[in-house]
Amino acid sequence: MSKFKAIVIHQEGETFTRQVQEIDHSFLKEGDVTVKVEYSSLNYKDGMILKNGGKLVKDYPHIPGIDFSGTVTESSDANFKAGDKVILTGWRVGEIYYGGYAQYAKVKGKFLVKTPEGVSNKDAMALGTAGFTALLCAFAIQARETILLGEPIKDVLVTGATGGVGSVAVMALAKMGYQVTAVTGKKDKVDFLKNLGAQHILDRSEIDVDSKPLEAALWDGVVDTTGGKILARALAQTRPNGIVAACGLASNYKLDTTVMPFIIRGVKLWGIDSVMCSAKRRQFVWSQVKNLIDFNQLNKVTDIWSLEDLVQSSSKILKGEISGRVIVDVNK
Ligand code: NDP
Repeated sequence: MSKFKAIVIHQEGETFTRQVQEIDHSFLKEGDVTVKVEYSSLNYKDGMILKNGGKLVKDYPHIPGIDFSGTVTESSDANFKAGDKVILTGWRVGEIYYGGYAQYAKVKGKFLVKTPEGVSNKDAMALGTAGFTALLCAFAIQARETILLGEPIKDVLVTGATGGVGSVAVMALAKMGYQVTAVTGKKDKVDFLKNLGAQHILDRSEIDVDSKPLEAALWDGVVDTTGGKILARALAQTRPNGIVAACGLASNYKLDTTVMPFIIRGVKLWGIDSVMCSAKRRQFVWSQVKNLIDFNQLNKVTDIWSLEDLVQSSSKILKGEISGRVIVDVNK
């Protein structure tokens, strides 16, 4: 079988190097389904792994890329056959298993979701892990209406709003009919966020400050991608029985708060883990994508990079310099 292209990370002591290499199919050992990868994407965690393994990768040489979409070429899993279009996010692929920054990947069939009708493999990676996570957050917020006695939701806050998770969350929550306030540190991205559906924009400096245990209650729901002071303040500003979906740490992994929002207002802090969430929830989320995402709009805030572009520029995501999403075309 011919060789294929992949990004390979090598480690020597404290030094990590990454390059696009031609590798042999025999390099891919684990898994029962082989996929010809079409697209992957760039997520915050990919930035960390490409830099120095992000304390997530155990063995080198390593192929990174925490998500991909493509077409099955070989399968010994009864649920998949050659020609099936598939999506992978999470399950620690790209961390402890070889990932999607390659023209081929071999993974366990139970990690894969079939690409839903009406969604292309390119659309799937315009969303990727970040978009999938944003939708998990949006459904967590919606639970205030659906499982908590139908309390209506009007105002929602999204932090880190120009990032991958944030921008898809703004879009999906606006589509769900909520009034979205988007927090950003980028003063020049007001139109970008309004075009995605945000009604109000809040400068990050106004919320990234110490908070009182309880403040004026402003939000029925919050998607927080940042952690730290921003999450603490968002909790203090959440209305009774509001849901705060916490998925990220772009500002800080620490959270210094009090029990007051929880015991006085019944605020719910809902942790989001897109990596190990169940196959059932994945299928549900992907089945809802068509109703919540306007791909024409998403494509306007999505760049397409090659594997070589990634090697060159992936560190931008760690500096908060990326707005919207980056799709990786592994065959470019
Ligand atoms: P991005 O880098 O695309 O977005 C993060 C955004 O956060 C930036 O665009 C910026 O938005 C804002 N930001 C950056 N630095 C800071 C800072 N120091 N303080 C406050 N805000 C900051 O990353 P993703 O959207 O891919 O991921 C967001 C977070 O979610 C990450 O921490 C990631 O690890 C986590 N994540 C978690 C998942 C899970 O399963 N729990 C899955 C996917 C991601 P702006 O300039 O608009 O403020």
